[in-house]
Amino acid sequence: GSTIGILGGGQLGRMLGAAAAQLGYRIHVFAPASGPACDVASAFTRAAYDDTEALARFAETVDLVTMEFENVPAEALETLARTCPVRPGERALAIGQDRLAEKRFAQGLGIATAPFAVIAGADDCAAAIPETGLPAILKTNRLGYDGKGQARIADSDALAAAWRELGETECVLEGFVDFSCEYSVVLARGEDGSCVFWDSPHNVHVDGILATSSLPAPDIVVAQQPRARAAAQAIADALDYVGVLTCEFFGHEDGPVFNEMAPRVHNSGHWTIEGAVTSQFENHIRAICGLPLGSTALTGAGVEMHNLIGDDANRWPALLAEPTNHLHLYGKAEIKPGRKMGHVTRVTPHKDAP
Ligand code: ATP
Ligand code: MG
Ligand code: MG
Repeated sequence: GSTIGILGGGQLGRMLGAAAAQLGYRIHVFAPASGPACDVASAFTRAAYDDTEALARFAETVDLVTMEFENVPAEALETLARTCPVRPGERALAIGQDRLAEKRFAQGLGIATAPFAVIAGADDCAAAIPETGLPAILKTNRLGYDGKGQARIADSDALAAAWRELGETECVLEGFVDFSCEYSVVLARGEDGSCVFWDSPHNVHVDGILATSSLPAPDIVVAQQPRARAAAQAIADALDYVGVLTCEFFGHEDGPVFNEMAPRVHNSGHWTIEGAVTSQFENHIRAICGLPLGSTALTGAGVEMHNLIGDDANRWPALLAEPTNHLHLYGKAEIKPGRKMGHVTRVTPHKDAP
């Protein structure tokens, strides 16, 4: 059998690993020494992404490399690509780890984004606000997730202060989008360029962190889904992408507004494990291995995924008391506020089901 290398040791890698194991693959995870460990792996390398020798040795042991994490340095991907295929490729990661590149790339394909401006120095603050309007959101250009590295901006004094607070690093100021709801397009693109899409779930964020993804989604999501899918597919096609790609959208009354992309499986696709015929994890593995993609059809009339964040994880006995709940715990050693500890999914059966 073949061995799939996965960069990153978090819950996404763990669920990818479980799907790969089901299809008969072996898993070798490469992850930095700190942080969680994907414990479904048959082999594990703990080393930094700038450890070229460790990367080269890892590449020798696997047939292809994928990732659960987009912030892998370009040099690491180059090292790996000398020995084996890396899917998705360098360009998708380079864009997906850089908010400015991502927005410019989307705009270049004719996709609507929030108005934005670059804040690279204190002098940029004054000129940025007329570009974006107020209120606005300041985001670090790199490494932000779960709403970390962001600040709401009400006026120009607040902008300068927030930029200092974020460490005077390169940032993007975004105009606040007055959306009625948020949703995502999760697609899988095969080696031959064919795409499959799961239904776009309605995503609710609390304090910048995804709280729930649910289907059926509100009418506005259903109405915008074709345009959002076309946008996401244009991104995938332009990158000659192989694997699962996620694009987050704001549902604005004028149409879909692209927020950001993740060149990987995504939290808003966790419901697909039980709620779709083929999960995002399985189709990612199928895509990168050149296998036919599986059906994305819903298994029920609806589905709801709730994240277990911080102390929520302690509620698991009560969640298991409901027999139709599917509980997923990520096995993280320590509960921290705002940390994703697990999730629970409930599928609403079709009316005619027993
Ligand atoms: P993720 O964990 O999804 O990668 P992130 O830290 O990259 O999150 P964003 O997705 O950019 O952050 O923003 C988090 C949430 O903040 C969004 O889902 C949305 O609810 C809100 N938000 C972000 N940007 C805007 C905006 N321009 N207008 C309105 N709301 C916004
Ligand atoms: Mg993000
Ligand atoms: Mg986001």
